[in-house]
Amino acid sequence: MNQHSLSSKEIKEVGRVLVNIVKRNKITKLADFQDKLLSLGFAKRYTHFENLKYVLNEVGIDKYEGVYTFVKLSSLHNETKECWRCLENKPLGSFKKCYRYIKKELNICNTCIKDESRITGESVPELNAIYEYLQFKYANVLDKSMYSKFWELALYGKSSSVNV
Ligand SMILES: [Zn+2]
Repeated sequence: MNQHSLSSKEIKEVGRVLVNIVKRNKITKLADFQDKLLSLGFAKRYTHFENLKYVLNEVGIDKYEGVYTFVKLSSLHNETKECWRCLENKPLGSFKKCYRYIKKELNICNTCIKDESRITGESVPELNAIYEYLQFKYANVLDKSMYSKFWELALYGKSSSVNV
C-alpha cells in the first residue's frame, strides 16, 4: 500500500515543479497536477496516484479548504509568513490564499480568523473577504494595529494586542 516508484532524484525533480505549480495556480484536484505534469513533458509514471501523493507529502503540500497549499515546511518549500495578529511565523498554508482582489496570502492566519469568527459571530468566508479587501484597499498604509483584537476593548475593557 502507498508504494511509490520514484528515485530520490526524481522526487526532487518533480517536487520542485509541484511547488511552482502550487505557488502560481489554484489547484483543487489531483487531476490538475496530472494534466500540468503531462503538459510539461513528465512521463506518465510521475502522475501515478501513489507517486503523486508521495511527492506532495514530501514537499509539504496538502489540501486546505478545497485548495492545495503548503501545509508544512519542507526542504523544497520553507517559506513562512508572520501573522499580523498572533505574530507567529507559520508555513504559507496557514494563511488563506486570495484570488479576488489580491493574489497572495492574507496577513492574518487561519487560526486567528477562526478565533475571530467564534467570538464575533462573523462567518470565516466573510472575514476572509473583509481582510482580503483590507489588504487590497489599504495596501500602502497597512500596519499591524489594524489587526488588533478590536473586540477585547469592548468585552474586557482592555486589549491584549501589541501596541504598534
Ligand atoms: Zn495568527
